[in-house]
Amino acid sequence: MASALLHFVLVPLPAQGHVIPMVDMARLIAGRGARVTVVLTPVMAARHRAAVEHAARSGLHVDFAELEFPGPAFGLPAGCESYDMVRDIHLFKAFTDAVWMLAGPLDAFLRSLPRRPDCLVADSCSPWTAGVARRLGVPRLVFHGPSVFYILAVRCLTKHGVYDRVAGDLEPFEVPDLPTPRAVTTNRASSLGLFHWPGLESHRRDTLDAEATADGIVFNTCAAFEGAFVGRYAEELGGRKVWAVGPLCLLDSDAETTAARGNRAAVDAARVVSWLDARPAASVLYVSFGSIARLHPAQAAELAAGLEASHRPFIWVTKDAAADADGSLDAAFEARVADRGLVIRGWAPQVTILSHPAVGGFLSHCGWNSTLESLSHGVPLLTWPQFTDQFLNESLVVDVLGAGARAGAKVPATHVDPSSPVQVRSGEVASAVVELMGDGATASARRARARELAAEARAAMAEGGSSARDLADMVGYVARRKESERDMLVVDPPPPQQQQHDISVAPCS
Ligand code: UDP
Repeated sequence: MASALLHFVLVPLPAQGHVIPMVDMARLIAGRGARVTVVLTPVMAARHRAAVEHAARSGLHVDFAELEFPGPAFGLPAGCESYDMVRDIHLFKAFTDAVWMLAGPLDAFLRSLPRRPDCLVADSCSPWTAGVARRLGVPRLVFHGPSVFYILAVRCLTKHGVYDRVAGDLEPFEVPDLPTPRAVTTNRASSLGLFHWPGLESHRRDTLDAEATADGIVFNTCAAFEGAFVGRYAEELGGRKVWAVGPLCLLDSDAETTAARGNRAAVDAARVVSWLDARPAASVLYVSFGSIARLHPAQAAELAAGLEASHRPFIWVTKDAAADADGSLDAAFEARVADRGLVIRGWAPQVTILSHPAVGGFLSHCGWNSTLESLSHGVPLLTWPQFTDQFLNESLVVDVLGAGARAGAKVPATHVDPSSPVQVRSGEVASAVVELMGDGATASARRARARELAAEARAAMAEGGSSARDLADMVGYVARRKESERDMLVVDPPPPQQQQHDISVAPCS
């Protein structure tokens, strides 16, 4: 196979929603006969070790490079190596600055390899990789974690200067140039842009520059979900390659890897499965807000009351004790719903849950991975976005794909009035849940649509499907580049002081 000698180095952003699909992609690329190294820091490597070790045991050439995280130099506690661990919003910039400093260790790691890798696939939020790749003469692809719909919308808003005009404005406005007219409005402008954060202006410019100079763009989506947007985005890029290789979550099929996806689960996955086994098909609502978002305690109390009033079985994932702080998720609540409610505190085996036939709805913050995982398993969504891409993902799921209903959140969580932090009242939660999970014509149509999308997603990922073809073409592109550049390698001298960084490469076989 032409790709047998290729070496890909993948550099995710240190956030669960970015590392999980990158590790999936590593396994997928390795499945095409290439060697793949995922660059992580020690805490993130520990979280994802099970998936990589499992892949290595199956004969795939996947390993980690572990770079020391310079967080303490930026005032972060030791071990704070992922955005979900940044609990003080004032440390967000410091964390991002520390991530940018990984350029030196990455450069040193790549130079320590016996030969130059053939391709760097870097998260679009890791633009600091661009200079490293350029200095070493390594082709670089950008991996976009969010939906194409979102990335395209932000691009169009920026291009037309709309973004600046409406920033801070919560009224509906049109996103120009989108191919689907129904999906042209959003009133969540001020939460849209990645790194649209005071003090992160240069980081944002870096991401735009790094995308503009990338050799190609990779998305975790498929033609069936976002074909029109992929096509439009490719036009925007004017000839550069755009590959849609997802939904990457469909890679996992065996119970062991699915249960450990992203981290060791806080509960015994088998126990959750037997809890679900005892419920009728499509009767359970799964509730989770992803790895980063946390509900204000008053809002969590309304959600609890709404779930209770809905009289539907549910699994609710809360990230920590914060939601319990004001007694909203107290023992009395759990006792009252004990016959039909399961509360998971900490990391949940999400794909294990979503792939169970008893699950019939997902109350989700609409992170793109969660959205894909739901749709890929035929589960319609009750959408409750919090920030960044999530409001546009809601729009995609509800207005474009017809596989979701809105819970009613209208303002980014970061903009919620602290004196009145409740956006969705318990009564609204209850009626939205009853409607989503009920037998009404709209709910049935939504369910049918979700099942249809799941079938299309599986077809895309199967051999010969659109995503499998795109992945093969991406690997083929790198192989062809390697062929044509074989004799043209020019490596600049290393930048000063890079040798001081601690690097370890952890092969997993
Ligand atoms: N996830 C999980 N268990 C949890 C929380 C999250 O497995 O308890 C996974 C989820 O399946 C998804 C990812 O973490 O793959 C979250 O990514 P997403 O884009 O949905 O949201 P984010 O966390 O980035 O906001």
